[in-house]
Amino acid sequence: MSPTEPEATGRSAALFARARQVMPGGVSSPVRAFGAVGGTPRFVDHAAGARLFDVDGREYIDFVMSWGPLILGHAHPDVIAAVQAAALRGTTYGAPHQGEVELAELVVASYPGIERVRFTSSGTEATQSAIRLARGATGRDRIVKFAGCYHGHADGLLVEAGSGAATFGQPSSAGVPAVIAGLTSVLPLDDEAALAELFRAHGGEVAAVIIEPVPANHGLLPQRREFLAALRQQCTAHGALLIFDEVISGFRVALGGAAEIYDLRPDLATFGKILGGGLPCGAFAGRAQLMEQLAPAGRTYHAGTLSGNPLAMAAGLVTLRALQDRSVYRTLVARGARLQAAMTAAIAAAQWPVRCEVLGSLFWFAVGARTTLRRPDQIDRGAAARYRTFFHACLQRGVNLAPSAFEVGFLSTAHGDAEIDTAAAVFTAALQEAFAR
Ligand code: PMP
Repeated sequence: MSPTEPEATGRSAALFARARQVMPGGVSSPVRAFGAVGGTPRFVDHAAGARLFDVDGREYIDFVMSWGPLILGHAHPDVIAAVQAAALRGTTYGAPHQGEVELAELVVASYPGIERVRFTSSGTEATQSAIRLARGATGRDRIVKFAGCYHGHADGLLVEAGSGAATFGQPSSAGVPAVIAGLTSVLPLDDEAALAELFRAHGGEVAAVIIEPVPANHGLLPQRREFLAALRQQCTAHGALLIFDEVISGFRVALGGAAEIYDLRPDLATFGKILGGGLPCGAFAGRAQLMEQLAPAGRTYHAGTLSGNPLAMAAGLVTLRALQDRSVYRTLVARGARLQAAMTAAIAAAQWPVRCEVLGSLFWFAVGARTTLRRPDQIDRGAAARYRTFFHACLQRGVNLAPSAFEVGFLSTAHGDAEIDTAAAVFTAALQEAFAR
């Protein structure tokens, strides 16, 4: 434990000790365990707006925001009211209901170029099923992904992934059969030449290329539009389907996600997080001709006991309805810009080797970077060690960031100018500590 990490005492520590007796690593998802930053994870008691309250009575301005879903903030009153009302009418039916029709209609109206939506219970299921659909539709087996992009934990996608896999330095997972991983080709981001070379050699074998058009699972690595356009063009030329994994970027970087900001149309898009307004939910979507190849109309299978869950649909509907007012995005962009301006000034004044990267309501501190990074291999090797100190210095001052150097921060409509300014002061003090050693 480094000197900046507080003693593991109190209720969080006691709960973590209990958790480890009955749950692997004491957690339900790996990064939550603080493995990359050391110390004891805070157990949450409750959350509201931009704030998280732990079981020891401490309060934090939260920038994890459940890793993205909570664009309206924690426990938004309208979301809670809708979920309560839905629960009174039954928590799951296993039969069609109006809420899923309404949410699907809203997704189709919000995201460019799609006509049909299939709901899932998570982002992982969405990407996994989109890939099966692409394989079914093309009759090809190979898929292509990009180093550092994370698409959930399905076997064929846990190859050079980001997120928890990046944190733990595992390019892939144990338990993924070599024959499955062997069907996944991995390309570098930001590299048209490598893309062209792969398609020249193997274009006819590729069922689909999946990409986070706004890579946000191995730091925030904004791509050049020309690169994404080249990808679109190569896929079209070789009959491969392009999948935009918009689980993070969908309904966040714009109502129509990255497809809208880059004015590019994928063949399939995958969603999660914001779509369910904080309840378990995902979806994949595309044109009718493609999506109708899914069971029951078509021969590619996908199903789910809780797919289209009425509580998730209710939370998603309230959230997506609120986002139809596009001034929400102007506000979020302004808040992101305010944070970036404050941090860029503080960083320049102190000459710290770090960059505050912002894209809309996503932000990331790129340790060692002077300009925008576009590939994970450009990230400074010392970033994780610096981040440990930075992270704990923030936490001690009441600001909750993701417990990993490679995860991004999320703003919500509940983060007002006051929260941004408080956080900027805390980040500045924490950078001071991180670069003092
Ligand atoms: N795709 C992307 C881009 C993601 O960020 C994530 C999760 N962070 C997933 C897929 C997987 O979603 P889930 O955790 O809901 O399975």
